[in-house]
Amino acid sequence: MKILFLHGWHSVPGGVKPTYLIDHGHEVINPVLDDDDFDAAVATGQAQFDKHQPMVVVGSSRGGAVAMNINVGNAKLVLLCPAWKNWGSANSIPPQSVILHSRADDVIPFSDSEELVARSGLPPETLIEIGSDHRLADAASLSVMLWVCNLFASGEEFPGTDGNSTSFVDASSQEEGSYVCDACGEEIIIPLDLTEGTSQTYVEDCPVCCRANTIHVQVDEEGNAQVWAEPEQDGQ
Ligand SMILES: [Zn+2]
Repeated sequence: MKILFLHGWHSVPGGVKPTYLIDHGHEVINPVLDDDDFDAAVATGQAQFDKHQPMVVVGSSRGGAVAMNINVGNAKLVLLCPAWKNWGSANSIPPQSVILHSRADDVIPFSDSEELVARSGLPPETLIEIGSDHRLADAASLSVMLWVCNLFASGEEFPGTDGNSTSFVDASSQEEGSYVCDACGEEIIIPLDLTEGTSQTYVEDCPVCCRANTIHVQVDEEGNAQVWAEPEQDGQ
């Protein structure tokens, strides 16, 4: 699938995130965006979008603001800690957008994304809390970014973002998932109770190293679950 990737401020094409998408079979258009002139960056983004007609636009940080300020038609937006308050005039996102953001982000506050979702009238599932910093280049963040892109590539809607958050999981659904413990690196198999909802977050101790992990479960419309873990935050 074609993806337009809009990089962040003082970032360059060919970084970890676009490379990860390419390594997983996507055709990634990754233009150089002007770091000084935001309007020029938007013009570049729009020209590349019009030329390539990607199904998905991924925008990272300032690139997220660029993505919000171009006309993407029916393409889906995947925004990584978007810096929409710092650049551009757009202050809402269309339905079926997805945002990834870390609560520990010390560059763009997590609350900016909460505000963006609220301003756009979108359900809370639109915002996925993940990662441990602004870069979102850790394994879990990369894997969830890819998962969302693959979901959109297959023509699926992102679960919960159509405003209908009732459970659509049937009996044939996956009943186990696995995550990699951030502390010890072991892959942990866990049972999934999909009747608990399509978007779950809970804390459990790693059975190998006993460190507390925050477990996130997201279930798509086929009943396939994506599971990832991050170290439990000590109440900041
Ligand atoms: Zn562990």
